[in-house]
Amino acid sequence: MKRQKIVAGNWKMNKTHEEALSLAQTLTEKSLPSDVKVILCTPSVFCSEVGKIVANHPSLNIGAQNCHHEESGAYTGEVSAAMLQSIGVQYVIVGHSERREYQKETSAVLVKKIDLLQSKGMTPIYCCGEPLKIREKGTHVRHVAKQIKDELFHLDKDAVQNIIIAYEPIWAIGTGLTASPEQAQEMHNEIRKVLQRKYGKRVSDKISILYGGSANAANAKTLFAQPDVDGGLIGGASLKADDFTTICNSY
Ligand code: PEP
Repeated sequence: MKRQKIVAGNWKMNKTHEEALSLAQTLTEKSLPSDVKVILCTPSVFCSEVGKIVANHPSLNIGAQNCHHEESGAYTGEVSAAMLQSIGVQYVIVGHSERREYQKETSAVLVKKIDLLQSKGMTPIYCCGEPLKIREKGTHVRHVAKQIKDELFHLDKDAVQNIIIAYEPIWAIGTGLTASPEQAQEMHNEIRKVLQRKYGKRVSDKISILYGGSANAANAKTLFAQPDVDGGLIGGASLKADDFTTICNSY
C-alpha cells in the first residue's frame, strides 16, 4: 500500500521574523522530492508570510502548531482555527506532548480541536506517545492505544482518513535519544492494528503515521525505511535548512 510520505517541521517557539522568512525562502531553493509532502509548522505569527513564500512550491505547505478548541470568543491571546484557515493554513498540530504537559490539554480538549479543524476541512497532525516511565514499565503499546481510542475513535471512516498521526515517544523529544527503527516500527504497526480493528484494513492502510523524537539528518533514513513509518515530525533538526532538506530526501 502506497501511503502519502510526509515530513513536517515543528519550529516550536523559535526564530524571529527575519530568520523565519529566511529559512522558508532557503527551503524553496533546495531540491525537495516531489512525492513527499513537506509541512512547515511555524509559529502562528509567521504562518501568513511563510505561507505566501511556499504557496507555489510543489512540495512545501504551511502548517500551525496549535489552535484553540472553541470557534471564537473571549479567549485573550489565543488563535482560532478560523483565523489560521483565513491565512491559508491547512495543517495544525494537535496534542503535542509539550502542550499536553505545559497547557494541561486533556483528551476532551483534543477531541474538540480535531472536530473543529475537520469541520473546516483542515487536517490535524495528531500527536501521541508515551513517557519514559511507561516505556520502562513495558505498557507503552497499551498507553498509546488508549490515547488513540480516547481521542480519535469518535471519528467515522471518512474523517479518520483526514488525520495525520505522529507517534512521538516523549522520552525522545528534544533529548537526543531516538527510538530505534525497530521500536518505531513496533509502535507504528501497533497503531495501525488499533486503527484496523476499528476501521478496517482499507482505511488503516491509508493513514500516514509519522515518527517524531530526535529524528535528524543522520538517522532519518533508517527510520523512514521501516514499513509502517511514513515520515517524520521533526523539531530541532527542522530549524536548519540543510539538515531538514536531508531528512526530506531520506526515503
Ligand atoms: C517535536 O517536538 O515534535 C520533536 C519531534 O522534536 P525533536 O525532533 O527536537 O525531538
